[in-house]
Amino acid sequence: MASPGQKVVLITGCSSGIGLRMAVILAKDERKPYHVIATMRDLKRKDKLVEAAGDAYGKTLSLAVLDVCSDESVKQCINGIKGRHVDVLINNAGIGLVGPVESISIEEMKKVFETNFFGVIRMIKEVMPDMKKRKGGHIIVVSSVMGLQGVVFNDVYAASKFAMEGFCESLAVQLLKFNVILSLIEPGPVHTEFEAKMIQEVKQKECPGADPETVHYFKNVYLTSSLNIFEILGQTPDDIARCTKKVIEASKPRFRNLTNPLYSPIVALKYADETGGLSVRAFYHMLFNLGPLMHASITTMKCLTCGCLRSRAVSPN
Ligand code: NAD
Repeated sequence: MASPGQKVVLITGCSSGIGLRMAVILAKDERKPYHVIATMRDLKRKDKLVEAAGDAYGKTLSLAVLDVCSDESVKQCINGIKGRHVDVLINNAGIGLVGPVESISIEEMKKVFETNFFGVIRMIKEVMPDMKKRKGGHIIVVSSVMGLQGVVFNDVYAASKFAMEGFCESLAVQLLKFNVILSLIEPGPVHTEFEAKMIQEVKQKECPGADPETVHYFKNVYLTSSLNIFEILGQTPDDIARCTKKVIEASKPRFRNLTNPLYSPIVALKYADETGGLSVRAFYHMLFNLGPLMHASITTMKCLTCGCLRSRAVSPN
């Protein structure tokens, strides 16, 4: 239970990846400013988190069951918190989906939206009314660079994050009137189970319904580029957790928070040309013409831009 003066932070999807590291880093702050309620669908998956939390487990970190896709589970979890009081809600739980659209069933697509979009809304609807009443609180949504810029073969995942961005952009204005802050965290690639699951999924995918040429582009061109990008530009879950902590502790938290400064030019490209043609063509050339040179060109870009883009993003350090 939170001690007086401690902020109650509830995080979704803490059994792995970014959520796990957020829970640990916040709970292990030596000043003990937070009581973290780390939630997951199945407490049988708690061991990695409990081990990483060490002494903080049972003191500044407690566990609760929560499935963002279930109304009942969300209600039960929030009702179980003393006074239903949550100061900071971190919506982290999410799932990915890659592949040619032709080979993905509508059911699979709905599952992505059910988790990444409706899952977040379900949480916000449960926690926001109390925050509005108290005239205080901070809602954080882990979006993605793909919530700002679509990426080939990530059509549905990007759409779910775009939807979230539109929802948050609209809601943030109203919430400001109630002194409730809404912030988006927008990571680029991060080394987590997300990436491992994606690679595994792609290898196993038969891609029924997609023509051989599309399957070739997906498996041989997209996947190679994607692995290169993860290898060169990937951040760690700790980086994202530290960025998020900075956003929570900022005197004036920003609405948008790119965590990887190397993605600032991609976002700038999009807003530099209102016809949209520039970014579509740039991505086309990068994938289909520069594919074989991808590794070298990203490494060069990383060296050339080192340092000078940091002010546009929230830095983990
Ligand atoms: P991850 O797979 O390690 O973590 C996602 C967590 O969400 C898992 O613990 C999973 O069990 C949980 N989850 C899934 N469905 C859930 C549900 N219905 N209810 C509760 N929990 C559920 O991957 P991650 O990279 O740590 O992903 C965390 C967030 O970061 C996601 O929202 C993802 O979209 C976002 N993100 C990830 C990357 C990346 O490259 N890894 C990049 C940008 C954004």
